[in-house]
Amino acid sequence: MDKKFELATPIINKLYQFGFEAYFVGGAVRDYLIGREIADVDIATSATPDEMKKIFNRTIDVGAKHGTIVVVTKQGSFEVTTFRSEGTYINSRRPSKVTFISSLNEDLKRRDFTINAIAMTKVGDVIDFFGGKKDIEDGVIRTVGKPSDRFGEDALRMMRALRFASQLDFTIEKETKEAIIQSHSLLEDISIERKTAEIQKLFLGCNPQLGLRYLIETKVYLFLPQFSQNKTLLEKLLNVELKKLNNVEEVWSVLCLAMKISDIDLFLKKWKLSTKLIRSVKQLVKFVNKRLQAPLSNWMVYHLGVEQAIKVENILSIMENNQVKSDHEIKNQYNLLPIKERQELACDGKDLLSWFQSKKPGAWIEESIQAVEKQVVEGHLQNDKLLIKEWLISRANKSS
Ligand code: ATP
Ligand code: MG
Repeated sequence: MDKKFELATPIINKLYQFGFEAYFVGGAVRDYLIGREIADVDIATSATPDEMKKIFNRTIDVGAKHGTIVVVTKQGSFEVTTFRSEGTYINSRRPSKVTFISSLNEDLKRRDFTINAIAMTKVGDVIDFFGGKKDIEDGVIRTVGKPSDRFGEDALRMMRALRFASQLDFTIEKETKEAIIQSHSLLEDISIERKTAEIQKLFLGCNPQLGLRYLIETKVYLFLPQFSQNKTLLEKLLNVELKKLNNVEEVWSVLCLAMKISDIDLFLKKWKLSTKLIRSVKQLVKFVNKRLQAPLSNWMVYHLGVEQAIKVENILSIMENNQVKSDHEIKNQYNLLPIKERQELACDGKDLLSWFQSKKPGAWIEESIQAVEKQVVEGHLQNDKLLIKEWLISRANKSS
């Protein structure tokens, strides 16, 4: 069994010692059976949060209301959730009431897809009430129970289906897909934050083309900001190598470029992205557009830094299929820059004022420093005080 499960086994052992049941559940079991790298190991148990708090020395209350406790051990922290079934749903969203029940079967039944509804004992025996293992073998995403009911309970599951299709390279079973087509409008009531998380995972999956195709075919795109008006432009993305996307900055940049978004701030704010991410995407889009006109200059690398420059080149290679510089070449180019930031310049505003005593302080200082900075970064002028002074004087003479 995978090391990650072994690290969590003491928790299961302890729960049994105290007379409770406990199993590995959810994404970790699915990924283990697929042979994919396992993210977090989750445990389901018959013990209630209060009972768990008594048994384990260190716990964190993350969602005791929903039955989830984080148990902290020397081997790591693990989410342990009490078996539960979910009550009625309001607005196709969260459960209004969670009832703890001592039944693994009931707990698995409330899970979204058969592949996510498999449990495993601590010795690796698989408990599979809903044919999840077969669906993994066949590469199929199918709801547990009647798809239209399940999407009616929680509309986000429709986006989860598309996202898993992309992440696992699985197809969506016919009836499940039909139900998404029928129920897609329920997504109206889902919070944008949850949609954002799913869209990002979809585009960063191993078959984003497939995810995008489903997004269009099922009409889910109609309930996503800006996507709804841009079907044709989105379809064009089906022909580019989205698989090369490495991070969320690249995802949003590619979407902005593909949909020819003019007000990036407005668009990304609709998706409730952080200011930091929006700033980064704006820079990337700006420099991708610059790069369409010219090669990656020292001046561009200087402004971007290595990480952003790598992203710019990757976005270009995806969107334009351009020959671009490798990460290694970009790192070298950066390392060879004569200066990495303005502070390293051999002159400053004070020097300029002393060299041009007839001039009053003003915007010319910033303009001159920027001109010097560019010359130095591009390697046309040595970062030497005297040489900079000479260059500035001859420049001033030329322009007068
Ligand atoms: P990953 O963490 O890789 O995104 P995951 O399958 O672990 O995938 P989580 O969101 O972490 O997904 O949820 C853990 C488990 O909880 C799922 O495997 C599934 O069994 C259940 N689950 C999560 N969200 C829902 C939902 N909206 N409806 C029903 N069950 C869900
Ligand atoms: Mg998970």
